[in-house]
Parts: sequence; structure tokens; C-alpha cells
Amino acid sequence: MLVLVVNAGSSSLKSQLIQTDGKISLMRCLAEKVGAADARMSISYAPEFHKATYGVAGLSVAECLAKLLDIICDDPESPISGLDQIEAIGNRIVAGGEYFTKTALIDDASWENLLRCEELAPLHNPAADECIAMTRRLLPNTPQAAVFDTAFHQTMPPKAYMYPIPYRYYEDYAIRRYGAHGTSHRYAAQQAANLLGRPLRDLGLITCHLGNGGSITAVNHGKSIDTTMGFTPLEGLMMGTRSGSIDPAIITYIMRRDGIDYDEMERILNCDSGIKGIAGGSSDMRDVLQQAAAGDERANLAIDMYVYRIQKAIGSYYAAMTRTDAVVMTAGIGENSADLRERIFAGLAHMGMILDKERNRVEGAIGMNRIISIDDSPIRICVVTTDEEMRIARETDNLVSMM
Ligand code: ADP
Repeated sequence: MLVLVVNAGSSSLKSQLIQTDGKISLMRCLAEKVGAADARMSISYAPEFHKATYGVAGLSVAECLAKLLDIICDDPESPISGLDQIEAIGNRIVAGGEYFTKTALIDDASWENLLRCEELAPLHNPAADECIAMTRRLLPNTPQAAVFDTAFHQTMPPKAYMYPIPYRYYEDYAIRRYGAHGTSHRYAAQQAANLLGRPLRDLGLITCHLGNGGSITAVNHGKSIDTTMGFTPLEGLMMGTRSGSIDPAIITYIMRRDGIDYDEMERILNCDSGIKGIAGGSSDMRDVLQQAAAGDERANLAIDMYVYRIQKAIGSYYAAMTRTDAVVMTAGIGENSADLRERIFAGLAHMGMILDKERNRVEGAIGMNRIISIDDSPIRICVVTTDEEMRIARETDNLVSMM
């Protein structure tokens, strides 16, 4: 089945055309820094994947997708010449709330529920929904699936997913921890099990998805038992523009002091905080690492805080599990930044997570799943390339094939 996968991020669009029969990717697209003046979109085709780059300044994530569809229908090198050749569309959705516990077909009923979930992930769900609305218009007869980041975390026990606030908020408003990045954590855990040559059900893993957004999950015997993101993807780690966990009293204090409303406060916590809030400029880790290297104190502080909060989360999940066999690093920062991995694990050796500095920095290793701890490290450290798109394509195929 030829599946178009649409993965709309907060400031990015990742899309692939995947032939699920052979698990082959035929087209890859990545739009980065969407919304910024220097936003770019690269498109490449199998087998060589030579990238052509397009400027997409001023376009929204959905408009980038529309541009991508135009380009791949016209480009003689593209594997398709018309949208009717796409057999199904798989959409990554960050938050499924209480409405979705597994991958769902998108029809009028589920569409209503998708819209209701937008407030749970205000940076992500609206962008994904705009993409779905657009592709439903352009390809009205093509089946579409929604693959949820929250589904993998449905195995968390109540002691992990409940918040210590009056119980009626759970009963009346379904306020509980849902987690996010589930597709990535599940895939990273499976890849780590393959690397370690042991069945996933025998392992205790701490999976770290570190991108613009970030979350860490305790994966015990293949199941998520706890994760840092909560009711929304705002909780947990410090992120590119999101605060992560802070004292909740700060929020009401600032609102009172500055006289700002709920929407403005939410925007500050989601868009102006995290790395950007501390370093004062870019939220992109590559930029902030450069600023820090040039001696910028605030950039250095942002990185110190970012690293420290990751170390504390890894430590807390070591305590939450009955065994820890490996820590798994994935996503933009986890896969690509040897510097940050070195800083994170420099503080964790006493827990038995001992990085091999040379293996961590092997040239040309980017994009390769590998173990980067020393041979006799009690807990292994793995780097795996996240392939959310392949998983989404396969889940979409499974669901659509059952129709
Ligand atoms: P998203 O959460 O939007 O899917 P990604 O997983 O693509 O994001 O991660 C994006 C982040 O990864 C950005 O902060 C980017 O700066 C960072 N990143 C990518 N490559 C590197 C690198 N070589 N060194 C440090 N950070 C990197």
C-alpha cells in the first residue's frame, strides 16, 4: 500500500511516501523552522535521496504540505504523477485525550473528536488538523488514519497517570497524564531491544526523545509505565520553547502581577519559555550551542538547565523501574548531539550509565543505531534513529486493510 505519512510538528513538517509492502520510503520531505523567515523545505526521492530545497517563508505547516503535494505531482523524478495514486494517508496526532486509545480511521465522527483534542496540545494538534482538513478536501476518497502519540502510554498505572488534585477533575474533565511521543518511544524501545539482542518483554528501558519537544519514558517489559509529559505536552522536561514542569503557583502569581489572561499565560509557557526563554533568542539547540560556545552566559545557563533536568528525569525513572538495562537516546538532539550526550551522561556514571566518549563521537555514525556505552557499563546507552513515519505508515496500512 502506498501511504502518505504526515507528521506535523510545532515548527516542522515531516512527510514521507512509504510503500508498506517492502517497507520502502519513496519520498522524504522535511520543512524546518516553519513560521520563521528562513523556513526551508527539502524534498528527496528514492533511491539516491538527493535533496532539492525550497523556501517556505510565511507558510503554515498545512500550506507547506499543500506545496509538497503540488511539487510531487509535477516533478518528473517523483514516484507519483497524481494524488489518486496515494492509497491512504497516515497522520501523526500528538494528543488523543480520552477519545482515542488506539489508531483511528478519520471520518465525520472521529473528526469532531479530533477537534475536541486540540486544547490538549495547542502547539501540535491544530497544525495536524489543518493538514487533515486540507488533504480531506484534496483527496476526498482516500482513507485517512490518525496515529496517536498518547496511545503507547495507555498502559501506565493509575499511580503514574493520576494527579494529586481533587478526584472530581478526573471524573468530570478527564484530567490525567496522557503522555506524548508514544510512537517514537515505542519504536525506540523496540530498536534498542534489537540492538541488545534481547526480547523487549525482558528489558527495562529509559527512552529519551529529545527534539524541539522532549520527553522521557520508563518502558518496563515493553510497556510504558510512566512518562514525563502529562495532561498536555507542556509538562516534564525543559524544551525548545516550552517550560516543562514548574511550580504551578508561579502561573497564578505572574497572571496577577502582570494582569494577563489565560491565553496569554498559556502562550508564554508554550512559546516563550524553555531554552528560548532562558537563552533569550533562538529555541533551536544548534543555535544555542553556538551562542554558548561563543561565551554567551545565558545560552550556557539554558544548556546547563536542559541537561540537569534530563539527568533528574533519568534518575527518577531508574527509581521507578525494577531493572534498568539501557537508556535510549533519540530524536533531533538525542541522535545528533554528541556534546549534549556527553554532558548528560557525565552526571550519570555513578548510576552505572558509563559513556564511551570515542563511540559517542564516531564520525559518520549519525543515522546508525548503535551502543555508545563502554563494554562493561552495567547499563547500556543506545542511540537510535527515530522512524516515526515508518511506524505510522504500517499502522495506517493495518487499519485501512481491515476496512
Ligand atoms: P521536532 O521535535 O520538531 O520533531 P527534531 O526531533 O527534529 O524536532 O529536533 C529538533 C532539534 O534537534 C532542534 O533543537 C535542533 O537544533 C536539534 N538538533 C538537530 N541536529 C543537531 C545537532 N547536530 N546538534 C545539536 N542539536 C541538533
